[in-house]
Amino acid sequence: MSRQPLFLPMSLQEGEKQGIRQFDIILITGDAYVDHPSFGTALIGRVLWDAGFSVGIIAQPQGKSPEDFKALNAPRLFFGISSGNVDSMVDNYTPNLRRRSDDVYSPGGILKRPDRATIVYTNRVHELFPDVPVVIGGIEASLRRFAHYDYWQDRVRQSILADAPADLLVFGMGERQMVEIAKRLAAGESVCNLRDIHGTSCTMEVAEWRSARPEGIVEIPGFAEVARDKPAYARAFALHYHEQDPVRGKPVAQPHPKTIVIQNPPARPLTTEELDHIYELPFARRAHPSYMRAIPALEPVQFSVTSHRGCFGACSFCALTHHQGRIIQSRSSDSIIREVTRMTKMPEFKGIIQDVGGPTANMYSLSCDQWETGGACADKRCSPACKNLRTSHEEQCSLLTRIRGIPGVKHVFIGSGIRYDLVLADDSGYLELICNHHISGHLKVAPEHIALKVTKTMNKPGREVFDRFCSQFETLQKGKKKRQYILPYFMSGHPGCTIPDMVALAVYIRDHNLYTEQVQDFTPTPMSVSSCMYYTGLNPFTLEPLHVPRGQEKKIQRALMHYRDPRNRELVIEGLITAGRTDLIGTGHQCLVHAKNRTAGRFAGKYRKPEKNG
Ligand code: SF4
Repeated sequence: MSRQPLFLPMSLQEGEKQGIRQFDIILITGDAYVDHPSFGTALIGRVLWDAGFSVGIIAQPQGKSPEDFKALNAPRLFFGISSGNVDSMVDNYTPNLRRRSDDVYSPGGILKRPDRATIVYTNRVHELFPDVPVVIGGIEASLRRFAHYDYWQDRVRQSILADAPADLLVFGMGERQMVEIAKRLAAGESVCNLRDIHGTSCTMEVAEWRSARPEGIVEIPGFAEVARDKPAYARAFALHYHEQDPVRGKPVAQPHPKTIVIQNPPARPLTTEELDHIYELPFARRAHPSYMRAIPALEPVQFSVTSHRGCFGACSFCALTHHQGRIIQSRSSDSIIREVTRMTKMPEFKGIIQDVGGPTANMYSLSCDQWETGGACADKRCSPACKNLRTSHEEQCSLLTRIRGIPGVKHVFIGSGIRYDLVLADDSGYLELICNHHISGHLKVAPEHIALKVTKTMNKPGREVFDRFCSQFETLQKGKKKRQYILPYFMSGHPGCTIPDMVALAVYIRDHNLYTEQVQDFTPTPMSVSSCMYYTGLNPFTLEPLHVPRGQEKKIQRALMHYRDPRNRELVIEGLITAGRTDLIGTGHQCLVHAKNRTAGRFAGKYRKPEKNG
């Protein structure tokens, strides 16, 4: 294969310039093609090219247009299809299920991604090229690989492999799997034989499953059972959740009406050398030149650096454990320095590194010896409470200091979230360093809530830890010419959260002067622990029942976070009456809302009574 081009080809003419008559692999994506390592299609395309395969890209094809799908003819080996960097339903709809008017991954922000893009694209490719293998991947396929609750239809859907005519599904970060698939197909293996690749899922005929059930496989309740029985759904979820580990995870099987969905164990994490190599491939860090309008998602990440992958925080509402996993994979500081140095040579570079991070910024270089040999513990959560977790931030401090010293770099910001319980567990001066050099006016943190039973359900540190962090932050503000502030992210409507919990949070926000517009209303996205709780009303790991706010109660909870907004007054009053906190209605300095037009509690009595937190 020729050396890497400036951009991967998007047309036959661009392919011909690279001496390509037929592409080995064609990647189809719901995003515009931006040649940046934050965009999955560019990352996978560059890695495949590096492994010796020619790759063409079809970006944002019209679902109904055969011409778009035929633009590069048939590939020699396979089509790789993804919805893009986001799940199409999450991207196309607001949490209130209203259709969004724009898409930041599209030129000019214009909506082009069809609903359930992976299924739409796969069907169309299968119709046009029935003999060419199809591999689906990306966040949408990855997080819909088992039967799952779909918020947009409010029902359990089958695995995406039962809905889309694909031969294989790549889950998690896909570099290792995609290269193996390409090499084995190129060596003449049939796609039907590729059932043993870690980090992939496939289907098996029901008859074959009955006659030759593989050994050592964890069978979880099937689609028919989980679709009608919520405790079975919760049990199935807990079973597959525990197998999402590349070292100790076993294969998982879930029967569906016409097929058996098999998930192999997750792919082995990339080594430091492998990560370094991938992130130093010659990404243009720009959108393909054929686009006439800017792609909004590029601007905030164009000069950001990925320092590591994985997150052991395992927040319940985040499905990252099912995608990147808990084991932290860090790059070497030398590689990151080389990448930043290259950025400084770009004419668009203004001296600002927008972010150095991963899913959680301050997990760079943190580790546990257990990860290498035994994987992440199935029965324990990784946190500073575990003595095996190395929490020193020294390498991060040294990395940030080195980046600041690169000629042409004026500022280095931390844009990814930080986990403040880790900051408190370490004395290497990380917080002081980032306050002095790496945040502008605000430090974003995500306590999400302050009621202990809610933070426990979310698997977040409790209020006491957040308070200690705020106090340490305040101490560091003394003597500063320009004061900085904590910008907290809070969440309403999470399973386990009641209206009295939200009132407690609103009072906390008032007392600590933390009122913010940055409020998130919980959305049950595919395959998170919280989504399982939302659908079943159960904690999947204990099967204990949970309160789940829905409908009008969810609106009241959200309104309580924005209690100053006059449009929310009626809902806030309703919530305060329900919580038995009428003392917070009126004109006193402690009140959250004025009493004007106060009405009887239309919703009072429908919700849980006030209860003690924790
Ligand atoms: S020993 Fe502790 S840090 Fe290591 S995997 Fe287990 S829980 Fe996580």
